[in-house]
Amino acid sequence: TCGATEVAAALRAAAEAVTEHRDELVELDRVIGDADHGENLERGFAAIVSALDTTGIAATPGAVLKLAATTLISKVGGAAGPLYGTAFLRAATALGDHAELDAAGTAEALRAALDGVRARGKAETGDATMVDALAPAVTAAEDLARQASGTAGVRQVLLAAADAADAGADSTAPLVPRKGRASYLGERAVGHVDPGARSTALLLRALAGRA
Ligand code: ADP
Ligand code: MG
Ligand code: MG
Repeated sequence: TCGATEVAAALRAAAEAVTEHRDELVELDRVIGDADHGENLERGFAAIVSALDTTGIAATPGAVLKLAATTLISKVGGAAGPLYGTAFLRAATALGDHAELDAAGTAEALRAALDGVRARGKAETGDATMVDALAPAVTAAEDLARQASGTAGVRQVLLAAADAADAGADSTAPLVPRKGRASYLGERAVGHVDPGARSTALLLRALAGRA
């Protein structure tokens, strides 16, 4: 299992991964959007790290995720800030005040995050958004948490989610985007991976690395 300290460490790892991949995310968003996705996320996750530094580590995994959520919502504009903020907020709510996060709880939190992104952005699978990465990630996480009946850890569940999210991000390339800025391009966006789907996959992999 995984306590508040591990969740905070995982968020720091996510911040590092976002910085590492900033240029790649900017390039993806340059083709189909306004070239700011990497900067938006870098600003948001840097703010999360400062919030963790100044407030100290909260008592529970849920409280740490809630701090991340409110930080993203207040610091990141555009589409991704509110969407990722909602994802973290729903995940935090799903965790409640449990002191430890386990594999099943991780799958539940990811399911709640997906429901939140769908409710907020109204995108479905196939619209070429972060939903195309997050939806298969949730299914993979739930399958592993269920099948492995108690033997899979949080990290394994997040790794399975990240693998599925990578494949889901790749699957956005041939799609005509139907939500967000990319939808303005229509057919001209075909052949390009959605930046938010890509960032979802790399965030999950980074979170897994420290969980
Ligand atoms: P903006 O488009 O406002 O510049 P970002 O570039 O930071 O914001 O984020 C763009 C990403 O947000 C897209 O690649 C896509 O994955 C995601 N996105 C945009 N609109 C939606 C939506 N309605 N539902 C789900 N995801 C969306
Ligand atoms: Mg953008
Ligand atoms: Mg923008």
